[in-house]
Amino acid sequence: MSLLIKDEAPEKLIDENGKRVDGRGLKDLRPIKMEVGIVPNAAGSAYIEWGGNKIYAAVYGPREVHPHHMARPDRGILRVFYRMATFSVHERKRAAPGRREKEISMVMENSLSPVLFLELYPDSALELFVEIIAADGGTRCASITVAALALADAGIPMRSLVTAVAGGKADGKLILDCSGDEDKAGEADLPVAITWFNNEISLLQFDGIMSLEEFEETIESVKESLEKIHEMQQEALKRKYIDIRNDIKENESEHQHEGGDQEI
Ligand code: ADP
Repeated sequence: MSLLIKDEAPEKLIDENGKRVDGRGLKDLRPIKMEVGIVPNAAGSAYIEWGGNKIYAAVYGPREVHPHHMARPDRGILRVFYRMATFSVHERKRAAPGRREKEISMVMENSLSPVLFLELYPDSALELFVEIIAADGGTRCASITVAALALADAGIPMRSLVTAVAGGKADGKLILDCSGDEDKAGEADLPVAITWFNNEISLLQFDGIMSLEEFEETIESVKESLEKIHEMQQEALKRKYIDIRNDIKENESEHQHEGGDQEI
């Protein structure tokens, strides 16, 4: 009997037909599902399934800043708490937040803050909790994407949404939306976030090696898929309000029914 070590990346990431390990073409995204308004006790929330990633985002505040010395008298601050559940990866992850979680929390704050009117909340904090239930590569991009939805769901004024996806390189080929295996065994990973109100990049990290031409080509294909993901975000927000409208209509017709019965 052979032991399958699930955490080991396959040797070959792209076959001779240009297909990736999960059957995707080079520039295909993994399947993405988003839902808004999912955590009842938060001011706003959202959930995303992006390939093997499952992530919740919940927003609280604006509220008092603890510790107080972090507060700014002239503006609010955005605090992000990105955490991976101990069961989110094949080997149990240590429960205490590590350097990577602190780094991702910080880059999330930096990439989301430009769309917020933080000057409206002096001495206060918007707190954004991001829980990674399952991780399979690209969690920072999926987290930024779902966090923007949670902020919008909380009714916090925003200049626009923020969307993120990673480009990369594996087996010498340029790819989009790197999976965990591609992240681990590939040659480059390039997560990018965009703030739509000014079309500016608010996150650009780079891990690996590629030529300048490859970098430029990657940015172009990242831009195209960011637009697709942005549409999905807008659809997810609209869906919530269509559901609420349908509930109201159903309630109204039930009441009319009850009222009608009484008259008879
Ligand atoms: P991102 O998730 O944004 O791609 P990284 O490049 O740091 O961030 O991580 C790539 C992937 O490696 C993660 O999505 C996750 O699947 C895996 N990973 C991260 N941290 C751990 C860990 N502590 N133990 C096992 N796997 C991890």
